[in-house]
Amino acid sequence: MFIDTDIFARIVAGEIPCDKVFETARILAFRDIAPKAKTHIIIIPKENLVTAKEVTANNLELFGELFLVAKEIAEKENLKGYKLHMNVDEEGGQVVPHVHLHLLSRDFKSPL
Ligand code: AMP
Repeated sequence: MFIDTDIFARIVAGEIPCDKVFETARILAFRDIAPKAKTHIIIIPKENLVTAKEVTANNLELFGELFLVAKEIAEKENLKGYKLHMNVDEEGGQVVPHVHLHLLSRDFKSPL
């Protein structure tokens, strides 16, 4: 079930702290508060998009940048291999109503 506030928008606004690992003009990445792997990083667009269902021909570049940032973080953190995971909508297991890509590597604990 979606939580009722977009906590990731509040992180972007600086109202909630985060353990930031990477930032561009349009993207923010921070460590997951309840990691499901040794490395578990959340990568988000700063724009308030709720789910990946909002991808269109007009914002393809923004969605693509999530993957570019994931690659750059993986290089920075010396990750040899990793999982990229995105829950889409409540029925897809998404809890936070803000588009986010999970980057996970090593010692995976449980499915997301
Ligand atoms: P999802 O189920 O795909 O919506 O994933 C939401 C993720 O956000 C979960 O892995 C949570 O542990 C993580 N999360 C929730 N609140 C915070 C927070 N304040 N800072 C960092 N990660 C968070």
